[in-house]
Amino acid sequence: MADQFGDTLAGIVREKHVQRGDAIDERYRKDLTGKYSTAPGWAVRPGSTAEVSAIMRAASEAGVPVTAIGGQSGTSGAAVPVDGGLSLSLERMNQIREIDPLSMTMDVEAGCILQIAQEAAEAQGAFLPLDLGARGSAMIGGVIGTNAGGNRVVRWGMMRDMVIGLEAVLADGTVVSSLTKMLKDNAGYHWKHLLIGSEGTLGIVTRAVLRLRALPSTRQTALVAAPSFEEMIRVMRRLEVSLSGQLSSFELMWADFYETLTEAQLPSRPRPMETGHGIYALVEAMGGNAELDGQMFEGALASLMEEGLLSDAVIAQSDQQREALWAVREDLSPGFTPRRPFTAYDVSMAIADMPRFVDAALANLKEAAPDATALFYGHAGDGNLHANVSNGKMDESIKRTFDTAIYRAVSDLGGSISAEHGIGMDRLSYIGMTRSSEELALMRTIKRAIDPKGILNPGKVFEMEG
Ligand SMILES: Cc1cc2nc3c(=O)[nH]c(=O)nc-3n(C[C@H](O)[C@H](O)[C@H](O)COP(=O)(O)OP(=O)(O)OC[C@H]3O[C@@H](n4cnc5c(N)ncnc54)[C@H](O)[C@@H]3O)c2cc1C
Repeated sequence: MADQFGDTLAGIVREKHVQRGDAIDERYRKDLTGKYSTAPGWAVRPGSTAEVSAIMRAASEAGVPVTAIGGQSGTSGAAVPVDGGLSLSLERMNQIREIDPLSMTMDVEAGCILQIAQEAAEAQGAFLPLDLGARGSAMIGGVIGTNAGGNRVVRWGMMRDMVIGLEAVLADGTVVSSLTKMLKDNAGYHWKHLLIGSEGTLGIVTRAVLRLRALPSTRQTALVAAPSFEEMIRVMRRLEVSLSGQLSSFELMWADFYETLTEAQLPSRPRPMETGHGIYALVEAMGGNAELDGQMFEGALASLMEEGLLSDAVIAQSDQQREALWAVREDLSPGFTPRRPFTAYDVSMAIADMPRFVDAALANLKEAAPDATALFYGHAGDGNLHANVSNGKMDESIKRTFDTAIYRAVSDLGGSISAEHGIGMDRLSYIGMTRSSEELALMRTIKRAIDPKGILNPGKVFEMEG
């Protein structure tokens, strides 16, 4: 059968970088969860910004919806293409164009995998602070498209804080480019901030200039326990000062999470600290003085223990021990697999509201699904909390019951239903619980102005009809 649009794509990128209909690989149809599997009409792998521009021009003329695909590590269905649409993978555009150690910047293409960018920076004595569990698959375009955060937001902020310059292709193929290395620039609107976190609905990010930092040479890691949430947050605030600005990660783990995860990990590694404490945190400091940083870290934790703010602390004495401590937080499979099917949430709220959220979420769940259990953990410094909710069964109605219980608790505290994975398709019907009708109307106005035909990742984030 004639496939004029497919032939146009092949004319732009060559036939070997185009896939059509049933011959499209699984990876261009679904995200990590596999929950939404669609039937795109085409998948394409452009090799340059000029090719992305030509593809968008053709898609705009033909009215074909386009979804940008990164590492597909998001779990909200944001990177799932539309039935009959175009799946546009940035994977071939993966070059690091330049690392400038004086300006402390990295010029990188959107398809570069985060970990590769991190390692390239380190090889030049520089540091790309953004770090998350999906570092080995998430791509720069994807972490920009979701404004990713991760383990080090408490010190260096999220992706929005690291994007200095941006290049993107708009729905009609126009290339907008400001690949500057300037940190301070107040000449008019910063359009890049519209694209950051827009889940591919306003433009296709093709290249970015990222802010790097001086590479820390020391790293201190500890697992700590405190009697209560409030004491743990006081510990975090104290460490921000007593570690002279070196506090880089503060990952909170509620007691049930710690107990379940370390129990499940026991066959492969011993539990680093006994259970029975009120709350746990993984703490990391990064600095530059090999002689003093370790002493400073140990001294700060010892004082907090003496004062009773901490009830226990285990400090890693080697890289191997550091990895074992991080695994408590990051090696989720042994603990989570037996809970399948489960639903994972990534919500946020004011830090002080976190315990109120946990209590409200548990109360809502108890009322609506009494057999459900929930495990809570998250990035304390940015108020970003995860909940893993399961009662061993799953269908649309159970999921909706869980969603409502969790999002109502968030909404009552004025929090956000997504701090990481975005809204995608999964949370589309709940966005009104976190954004006002005026905010949604403004978002629709922006979308119509930039993408009047509505071809960029339609059906994600919000419905066009309010
Ligand atoms: C184990 C694990 C841990 C995680 N930890 C964190 C965490 O700590 N913090 C956090 O924030 N997230 C976390 N995530 C979520 C996920 O890794 C992030 O959302 C990440 O930014 C997604 O990048 P990606 O390349 O996989 O994007 P994808 O999942 O492929 O795409 C995500 C969205 O971005 C859009 N997009 C992709 N590329 C582009 C582009 N070039 N231009 C425009 N839009 C684009 C897509 O259309 C989609 O809407 C985690 C995920 C996993 C699996």
